[in-house]
Amino acid sequence: MTTIAAKQERTPTAESLWLDVTRKCQLNCGHCYNSSGPDGDHGVMTRNDWFSVLDQAATIGVSNVTLIGGEPTLYPHAIEVTERALALDMEVEVYSNLVHVPEPWWTVLQREGMSIATSYYSNQPEMHNQVTRRPSHARTRNNIAKAISLGIPIRAGIVGNKKRHIWTAKRDLQKMGVEKIGADRIREFGRACGGQEPDASNLCGMCGDGRASIGPNGEVSPCVFSTWMSVGNVQDNSLASILSGPALSWAVTSIEGALRGKAKTKACRPDCVPQNPCDPRCEPNSACRPGTPPSECKPRN
Ligand code: SF4
Repeated sequence: MTTIAAKQERTPTAESLWLDVTRKCQLNCGHCYNSSGPDGDHGVMTRNDWFSVLDQAATIGVSNVTLIGGEPTLYPHAIEVTERALALDMEVEVYSNLVHVPEPWWTVLQREGMSIATSYYSNQPEMHNQVTRRPSHARTRNNIAKAISLGIPIRAGIVGNKKRHIWTAKRDLQKMGVEKIGADRIREFGRACGGQEPDASNLCGMCGDGRASIGPNGEVSPCVFSTWMSVGNVQDNSLASILSGPALSWAVTSIEGALRGKAKTKACRPDCVPQNPCDPRCEPNSACRPGTPPSECKPRN
């Protein structure tokens, strides 16, 4: 007899993974979705644990990974993890605050298959620094310019709730030569929750769909925002069994349910996923980009 759990198992395939390697960060952004900061740590995942995750990921078809955190370049084995992924023919994006990029990283970032993503809050230094709660604007801006001068593919995500600020930040990035620019509202997770329980209806809805996130302690979640929804741990079970298991199916179903509930009061679904503007599902005519003027998003217009 087929059990409910067995019915909910699915083929363990994924296109992309977030390797959420650390909670340590030089910055202390007020909206940080996983409460990273200077006091954060690297969790219990070892270099070999991350190698094992990548080796398993390659066997189930993962073709691209994003190193994220926290600030991933602060994780001591991040370059080795990156090189392992490149050796497995994966594309590797490093989502960095670009406050301080050590010299060896610039060499790695210029390799075939590498790219950078970063967050940018304002063209005005004091506004950007108000968000990051450190004097970071000039450093981030200089390193964006350096990445462009070195020919490293780079995308930037503007996070904010005010259209005018997003627009001016976007113009500044365009003047610097950044072509891939997304924008997202502040999502109420981590520090942005303000002590409230996380609400799945604040997710974008793409979570767990061909993607998953692995945190510094090996916990797997549908995405980097939904870390409270652990669906397994790669230190206890194989990545394939977690991605095909009933826990992930339940998590995805419950996110869909939360979003359906919210859709009754909102004009459009799915919500935007501008944190990955390279993703074709994030094109303005297939998913909306509220707050990113001029928006081609029909439901929002
Ligand atoms: S939002 Fe990013 S840069 Fe800011 S504290 Fe969190 S991990 Fe660091």
